[in-house]
Amino acid sequence: MRRLGVHTSIAGGLHLSLKRARELGCTTMQMFLHNPRGWRIRRIGDEEIEAFRRLAGEYDIRPIFIHSSYLINLASPSTDIRRRSIGLLSYEIRMASLLGVEYIVLHPGKAAGQGLGVAIRRASDALRMACESAGADDVGLLLENTAGQKGDISSSIRLIHDIIKNIPEGLVSGICLDSCHAFQAGYDITTDEGIERLKAEIRDYLSPLDVRLIHLNDSKMAYNLGVDRHQHIGRGAIGFRGLKRFLSSFRDIPLILETPVEHKGDDRRNLQRVRRILKEVYDGST
Ligand SMILES: [Zn+2]
Ligand SMILES: [Zn+2]
Repeated sequence: MRRLGVHTSIAGGLHLSLKRARELGCTTMQMFLHNPRGWRIRRIGDEEIEAFRRLAGEYDIRPIFIHSSYLINLASPSTDIRRRSIGLLSYEIRMASLLGVEYIVLHPGKAAGQGLGVAIRRASDALRMACESAGADDVGLLLENTAGQKGDISSSIRLIHDIIKNIPEGLVSGICLDSCHAFQAGYDITTDEGIERLKAEIRDYLSPLDVRLIHLNDSKMAYNLGVDRHQHIGRGAIGFRGLKRFLSSFRDIPLILETPVEHKGDDRRNLQRVRRILKEVYDGST
């Protein structure tokens, strides 16, 4: 069975995100550990960790993904920001290990005015330092492809390869492929040619690393504008047919939706649309 879930809120405690996921019928899920737009971390006590581990087992929700903080910029030109980023990522990896969470999803960083080569070297070094200082080899680190906004250092498979190639093997477990980001960064996943090119790059540059997670999001913006705006499933520029084509080509990989929540029930409706697409994909109907 293909695992399907949605990014859920941790309001009130980490274990409540599992309850929310369960109520939506999810079999996998993603969450933040804290406000992703602030440096402050919240204390997570033993009881909260215990409750989380117990419910994850009881509900059989797995794998679980933690999306790392948006402030982390391992490529930053500022030594201070890099140091804080390494510290925060390392903390998130250690916390994932305590929670029994399988994966951390990370945006590798932004060049912020530097040359791409320098930024990528900085990101590689910082990534190695964060992993080494965390010392938790039971948590997989996934690098996510980004939309190609100004300064992005990970909008193509080749760039992700450049970040990984200089660090010891095994520190990065694989990638998280975001459909909206790929579409915005010039992979036209609504066509067979676009999907073939994406698959060929993954084969050529990343093998033997895997795509371990798909962020399934439609795109609010038209193709290849480098703008990261997620849209409801089937309501954006990728559309129902585009997402179906994409899912037919990347089978059996867990799916997490990061679609907007504008109205009550949006998560439920988006999940329902994905279930309908999956039914068509696996039944072979058109
Ligand atoms: Zn992301
Ligand atoms: Zn994403």
